[in-house]
This record gives sequence, C-alpha cells and structure tokens, in this order.
Amino acid sequence: MAKWLIKAKYIITLDEKDSVLEDGGLLIEDGILKKIGSYDEVAKFSSDNHKFIDRSDSIVMPGFINAHTHIPMNLLRGICDDQTLEVWLNDYIWKYEPRMTAEDSKTGTLLGCLELIENGVVGFIDQYFYVDEVAQSTDQTGLRALLCPGVFAPSAESKTIEESFDKAKEIIEKWTGKNKLLSFGLGPHAPYSVEKDMFDKLRQYAEEHNLPIHTHLSESKYEVAQAQEKWGMSPIERVYDLKFGSTPLLAAHCVHLDDNDRKLLKEMNATVLSNPQSNLKIASGIADVPKMLDAGINVALGTDGTASNNNLDMLEEIRLTALIHKGIHYDPRLIPATVALRMGTINGRKAMGLDSDGLVEEAAADIIFFDLSATSNNPCINPVSNIVYSTSSRDITDVMVDGKWLYFNKEHKTLDKKAIIEKANSITKRILSQGIIE
Ligand SMILES: [Zn+2]
Repeated sequence: MAKWLIKAKYIITLDEKDSVLEDGGLLIEDGILKKIGSYDEVAKFSSDNHKFIDRSDSIVMPGFINAHTHIPMNLLRGICDDQTLEVWLNDYIWKYEPRMTAEDSKTGTLLGCLELIENGVVGFIDQYFYVDEVAQSTDQTGLRALLCPGVFAPSAESKTIEESFDKAKEIIEKWTGKNKLLSFGLGPHAPYSVEKDMFDKLRQYAEEHNLPIHTHLSESKYEVAQAQEKWGMSPIERVYDLKFGSTPLLAAHCVHLDDNDRKLLKEMNATVLSNPQSNLKIASGIADVPKMLDAGINVALGTDGTASNNNLDMLEEIRLTALIHKGIHYDPRLIPATVALRMGTINGRKAMGLDSDGLVEEAAADIIFFDLSATSNNPCINPVSNIVYSTSSRDITDVMVDGKWLYFNKEHKTLDKKAIIEKANSITKRILSQGIIE
C-alpha cells in the first residue's frame, strides 16, 4: 500500500483540544495516520518510500460522515417538491419507487457515491431495500458505509415484513467480513410501520450479532400523536419499552422530543441522526439540537435521501445546524462552528463504530482537502470559521479514505462519472415514462 507525506497550510484536527496546525504535515502508511504535527517535524520520519503531496494551499480536515441517507433514491431527486409529507410519500415516492429495479439501485447508489465523494464525505449510514446491490456498488467506490437493510413491507423487494427481515439477514450474512470498509446493521423503518413481534425478533438478532439498529423516530408531530393514541406513549418511549439500546441505537430525525424522551435516548446511549434540511423541506419541524447536546446525547448529521433534500452536501447541513438554532433562540452562542463541524464528522464516526478522536496518530487516514486559493477562503483568519461559514463544497479538491485517493485534483479515481450520470438519467427517464403504480 502507498505511503504518503503530505504538507498542508492548515490541519483542522478535531482532536481533544480542537487543535488547528499551521504549516502542518501528515505521514500516512497502510491507511493509517502515522505522524501528524508541524511539517518539518513530520518530514523527519519520512523515507524515499513516501510519496510527497504538496498541499501548501489547502485546509485539511477529517472527512464528513453522512449519518442518514437512502442512497439509491438519488434516482428520484426532484420527484416532488413543496408538498406535505403525506402527498410526497403517498402520491410520489410510493407510486414511483416500486418501478426501481434491483439493477437500477446499483446505478442510483453509484450516482449517490459520486455526489458524496465530491462533497467530502468519507463514510455514510444508509437505510433502504436492495442492500445487496447497494453493497455491490459501494464496494467499488472505496467509501466507508454502515448499511442497514430496511425491514419494511411492502417494498419493491419484499411483499411481507418477514420476507424483508429474512432478506436483511441473508445480506448481512453474505457481506459480513467481505470488505473492511463496509459494516452492517438492521433498519426497521419506524415503530409505526413495524409491529412489536418483529421488533422483538430484530432486537434478538441484533444482540446475537452485535449489530446497530437504525430507525426513524419522532420525525413528525403526526407520528408522535399517532403513537400516543396507539400505545399511550411517544415513539422514543415505545422503543425504550421494547428494550432497545442493548446494541447501538441510531435514531434518525428526533424532531419532536420532550425532556423524558431525551433522558431515555441518553439512557439507551442512542445517537441521534439529525437531518435539518430534509426536516425543513418537508416541514416536519426543527430538531432541538442544543437541548439534545445538553442532555449528553451524541448527535450526528445526515442529509436524508435526495428525494427530500435534494442533495448530499454535508457542508450545507453543518452550516444550517450552526445557524438555525441561533436564529430560533436569539442566541448567537448556540452551536459554535467547531461543535457543528464535529457533528458532521467525529460524531458520525462514533455512530459508525469508527475511531473518533480526530486526526491523531493511529487514526484512519480519512481526510479531505479544501482549496485555500478559493476567493471565499481569503483571508483565512480562522480555518474552522472559513469551513463552516464561508467556503463551499465546490472548494473540495481531494478526498482520501483509508489511505487511498477517491478524488484527487477534483477527479474521481474509483468511478466513471460520465458513464454513471448517463446511465442514471436514462433509468430515471424510464421510471417516469412507466408512470405511477396505482
Ligand atoms: Zn430517512
């Protein structure tokens, strides 16, 4: 495996002290960050075997983690905007989604991965059906992923929920140990769409195989009201009652919580996967992230699927998270830039079960580079401030995962962009021309 010596103008480490190094160096061997510090110090440990990369005009930082998405849905980007969740779901997604074949979802995944890489994402957490195909495509990209086969029915893949659970187990057993960058979990859609018996089976299977459970919780007011009516408790109380939390619980959305919900999430050691743009666009509301952080909950950020966002740009989610709570609470001190940046990187790594101490020695070499010569990066008084408040994902030039370049000088190294985009467009055209399923 290649060895690299990298020189950078600034390195945002997101380590314990949130150190930012100026004129820094990174020594990378076998996918691991062996040395980090001032360039002059680090260079002393290099040999002729290290390839030198000069990024004196870059800011380097840990790559982003997109902690909640449905990657094949990239084929349905823009299918329905400016509508209620009910219309979006009942009249569009559930009418067109079954037109997507297993084969189509491979291309949808590749399209999504192109976009993730261009936006500096080094790993993502997904929940969808056709996960065997999602895994096959992701396997080609060099990205990290925690893939959670959706347990949900009816879907294009499974008629009954038992069938979808069997399929999930089959995929997990097939893929476990095949690619060290891919890990697996279970993705029951939500408490309202999965009955108690099935939740019990899922939890048991997750415990036996030590798998995370990734589900949607308290996304809309309607969902919380329905839960109160059906079980006399909130969706969070419901999963607590079902004894979740014995394996890692990844709770997407959590927009409508009360103090007790937050207490229970903390007790279950859950990670909340917050998706602020998707929540705004479907008008689900705004998750109270400051209160979750105050309760000691790990909060990571995601985009959700591109049918409800409509892109996979993590920097937009990070910036929105840093801004929106300031505005709502008339308090500019809420969610400082570094906190938002950690939510889009380190906290997502924690959710994926990866190292999460930032760019320190022995961490995985999952790093991204921002172009310091971009106009919006000048002057650069504070690199963290520039990343969160002024620069753009278009200024991302390089992405390295596990010591390998997936994107170098803005060129994809693992994927054929033109061919993927062409194929994706023809699939979407076919899906639309087939019309809705009545
Ligand atoms: Zn979702």
